[in-house]
Amino acid sequence: MKPASAEPSQSTEILILGGGPAGSAAATILAQAGRPVQLLERERFPRFHIGESLLPHSRTLFRKLGFDPQVEAAGFTPKFGATFFSACGQHVRRIDFAHAEGLPCPEAFQVPRDRFDQLLLEHAEAKGARVFQGWRVLEIEFGREGVQVRAQGPGEESRILRARFLIDASGRSGLVSRTLGLRKRDPKLQKVALFGHFRKVKSGWGEKPGDIRIVTRSDSGWLWFIPLPDDCTSVGLVIDRDRIPAGFPGQDEAAFRQWIGQSKIVAEMMASAERMTPLRVEADFSYRPERYAGERWLLAGDAGSFLDPVFSSGVHLALASGMDAAEVLLQHRGTGALPRRALREFERLQIQRYRLFRRFVLGFDRPEFRDLFFHQPVPEGIYRAVVSILAGQDRPSPSLRWRLQLFFTLVALQRRFTLVPRLHHPAG
Ligand SMILES: Cc1cc2nc3c(=O)[nH]c(=O)nc-3n(C[C@H](O)[C@H](O)[C@H](O)COP(=O)(O)OP(=O)(O)OC[C@H]3O[C@@H](n4cnc5c(N)ncnc54)[C@H](O)[C@@H]3O)c2cc1C
Repeated sequence: MKPASAEPSQSTEILILGGGPAGSAAATILAQAGRPVQLLERERFPRFHIGESLLPHSRTLFRKLGFDPQVEAAGFTPKFGATFFSACGQHVRRIDFAHAEGLPCPEAFQVPRDRFDQLLLEHAEAKGARVFQGWRVLEIEFGREGVQVRAQGPGEESRILRARFLIDASGRSGLVSRTLGLRKRDPKLQKVALFGHFRKVKSGWGEKPGDIRIVTRSDSGWLWFIPLPDDCTSVGLVIDRDRIPAGFPGQDEAAFRQWIGQSKIVAEMMASAERMTPLRVEADFSYRPERYAGERWLLAGDAGSFLDPVFSSGVHLALASGMDAAEVLLQHRGTGALPRRALREFERLQIQRYRLFRRFVLGFDRPEFRDLFFHQPVPEGIYRAVVSILAGQDRPSPSLRWRLQLFFTLVALQRRFTLVPRLHHPAG
């Protein structure tokens, strides 16, 4: 452990901005390999963060990070699947991770992010990364020999720090993307989320203990219910930005309850619920950068791209891209610019992952997708392919790809030919 007075060095080989899952994963991989790495995080952990539901494929990444034992020992809520309810509550689809292909362990976790992120950041530090909390990055400049950032520490004055290479893992702040004007909003996925933690939320609607519950809304959007320890449930509403009608609740709890209570099943779940935290709002959903990397920098996690969280893919994609970014730097031994071929490959991987999950997220908004998604039974091979992706398989085999293509072809046909009975979408 470094002494409390320690400050970041003025120059370092690799600088990481942000100590969420992407930054901590990148720092761990680099530090494990003995590379000098310095990480700046503006907050002091533990700090609140939304995004508590993890995917089982992340366990493979935890093992590579040497972090799996800590996750197992932390006492997080085990999660073996996800249960989706139609707006009327009559149609239920359980995604059981045990049916995913190529998954070493079907157990994922629901995690309070303040604790999970702190454990992961401490793990990076224990592996040798130099971590500085309470350091906010204000500006970034790019030069031929490296990058320079201006950061403000716990004192008043800001400091200039230099590095050969930079990984931006600053989450939705997207420091590099914003500096270079790279961020492109996904026009089809502009949503707003409103959420808080509640106690006494009712369970037992056909889900298994530990499942995330997703309830679709008949007009637009969906709600999540994530069980956390100590009778705490994370509850959130996601809705299309351009369909927000007058009377949208904002942070007014009574209006929030009235709004979500339009769905009968949600009204019953929330009948005795008591709010434990303030209601919070997140907008600016779903974006991607024009580029994920340059000669001296790489984008990881939400600092690169962000997708509507209906399938809980965010933390998994953040871990994976943080580890990819670290691998690019590990392959590059010199001090010169990162080779173009490595940057292209890094970018190709990030785009491929984004598109894979985006296809499901976009589909989930469409009635024909929901008709097939909720339809029981589905041919075994197709169901397994869908479950595999929803468990976090981000590099599907050709066989999985082929079956996914078949699934989306059926969705397209359903639009015109009614292959399976259409779901009713009554208002609650
Ligand atoms: C409403 C909502 C629900 C979600 N639900 C889920 C879910 O159930 N499951 C899931 O997997 N994902 C979910 N996500 C997504 C998930 O939260 C993110 O994808 C994930 O946290 C990304 O990790 P990250 O490391 O890229 O960024 P973050 O976790 O956001 O970490 C970025 C870090 O950078 C720091 N930082 C920012 N600016 C600066 C600066 N100027 N200087 C220094 N440090 C800085 C921040 O303090 C932060 O700690 C959800 C997201 C939203 C908005």
